[in-house]
Amino acid sequence: MEDYPVSQIDFESRFSTEDSYVEYLTKIRWPDGFQCPKCQSSKYWRYGTILKCASCRKNVRFLAGTLFQKI
Ligand SMILES: [Zn+2]
Repeated sequence: MEDYPVSQIDFESRFSTEDSYVEYLTKIRWPDGFQCPKCQSSKYWRYGTILKCASCRKNVRFLAGTLFQKI
């Protein structure tokens, strides 16, 4: 474990929960806050790794291809 990359440790401690990881990705994708791709609403609910627009009810899956897809 001594050769374990520091960056990997940082990553795992920072994203130790799915919630923190989703929050992080949300900020990357929408730096100014969530915006629905369909109606541009900024309000949403979250179900696991799926964001659901609170206005038009569109499901926004944005974690496809990321590590939580493997779990
Ligand atoms: Zn919407």
